Amino acid sequence: MRIILFGEPGAGKGTYAAELVKRYGIPQISTGDMLRAAVKEGTSVGHHAQEYMKRGELVPDATVIELVHDRIQRQDAAKGFILDGFPRTVPQADSLDKLLHKMHNELDAVLKIEISKETILTRLTGRRVCTNCGATYNVATMKPQKEGICDKCGHELIQRPDDKPETILNRLAVYQKDTAPLIDFYDKKGLLKRVQCEGPYAEALGRVFAALEKVAKV
Ligand code: ADP
Ligand code: ZN
Repeated sequence: MRIILFGEPGAGKGTYAAELVKRYGIPQISTGDMLRAAVKEGTSVGHHAQEYMKRGELVPDATVIELVHDRIQRQDAAKGFILDGFPRTVPQADSLDKLLHKMHNELDAVLKIEISKETILTRLTGRRVCTNCGATYNVATMKPQKEGICDKCGHELIQRPDDKPETILNRLAVYQKDTAPLIDFYDKKGLLKRVQCEGPYAEALGRVFAALEKVAKV
């Protein structure tokens, strides 16, 4: 199954992606995670991406397209994948189309996670992430057992540099300008599935699974 998880920053793409990984046994391909790893490792891609990310701007298309192309062609993605945070611009979506076509593959669905602006702001401003394993928490809604410490591995929790209030507003504006046009792009292809994800998590997750039930091939 080849799907895109789509939604505003803070919609919960990463959280739902992790659930889908467990359910379908296909990898999550998160450009945000890949870029953060590159920054941490200090690779040339990381150096190049860092400034854009800090400001909440998009990293240039060519850079992320190359990352995703390499990743999708790896063996573990042969049976399917969950794209999280990619594509984010029309040129990225076009490049994905071309690549999948070349590989004789196609997308099964684009799942749009729908959530209120208010929830998004609470999520992003309260988000804390583990410096070691990447687990996420929220100071308002999903606290760790011990403040500032990861329940899973005991390492320190931090706020992502791009989760500062000014940067959050910029990320949301960038989404509206560059990424929202993809809603129409995928709707026209008949791939878009809107899933209402406000409210209790377990119920929202149930709706995410239900939306995919009809397209599941794996
Ligand atoms: P969120 O969806 O919460 O904004 P991500 O982890 O997906 O978080 O992305 C973090 C940052 O990484 C983005 O603000 C952007 O700078 C960069 N990034 C991630 N994916 C892409 C992409 N497909 N194209 C361009 N930049 C990207
Ligand atoms: Zn951890």
